[in-house]
Amino acid sequence: MSEVDVETRLAELAVDASVCTACRLSETRTQAVFADGSSVADIMFIGEGPGFYEDREGLPFVGKAGMLLNRLLRQVGLSRADVYIANVVKCRPPGNRDPRPDEIEACKHFLVEQIKLVDPVVVMTMGNFSTKLLLNTATGITRTRGTVYPWWNRVVIPTFHPAAALRSGPAMMDTIRGDLELAVRTVRQGMEGSSPAEEEPDGGGDDPVGQQPEQLGLFG
Ligand code: SF4
Repeated sequence: MSEVDVETRLAELAVDASVCTACRLSETRTQAVFADGSSVADIMFIGEGPGFYEDREGLPFVGKAGMLLNRLLRQVGLSRADVYIANVVKCRPPGNRDPRPDEIEACKHFLVEQIKLVDPVVVMTMGNFSTKLLLNTATGITRTRGTVYPWWNRVVIPTFHPAAALRSGPAMMDTIRGDLELAVRTVRQGMEGSSPAEEEPDGGGDDPVGQQPEQLGLFG
């Protein structure tokens, strides 16, 4: 599919999301928040769902957490225009509660199409929620991060959510920056022809192949 075709299809999906009423989150949203960034990005970020500012502005990762993400991206030589940013659910859960299983189920076809169309080398899950969902694991982000997980002919690199770093302070920001550097290196290695999935900087983690997303049903 050409770049123009990808952008056209993503724009169609964004329109679909904007009028979607497939789950109860449509009743309380200001607007759906589909994505931001490049449709040909090598790195895709997946958060949980829109928050207050995202719901108001229609873009993912705005507000203080978004500004921190922008700053960290700049520090590793990237900008938002270089990456693709989306969430598990496209509409804000009231009071920023976790999305419920039926809401995720209703919304997951959008995320599946986004991943297939953008076709990134690296998917970075930010925070516990998207990490547990994509890797189909109950293990928290503190233990899952630091490892490159093979995932549907690409890799998942989990990292902390920028909002958590705002609460925790500089050490967690340094950790996220390190994970971003790992993602950049992984993309570069992929371009050079080596397998990015072979790198496991901290060791640890369960066998990612055993947790593949057939179980998650994301591509089922
Ligand atoms: S969260 Fe997803 S499934 Fe639910 S109304 Fe919004 S776009 Fe539709």
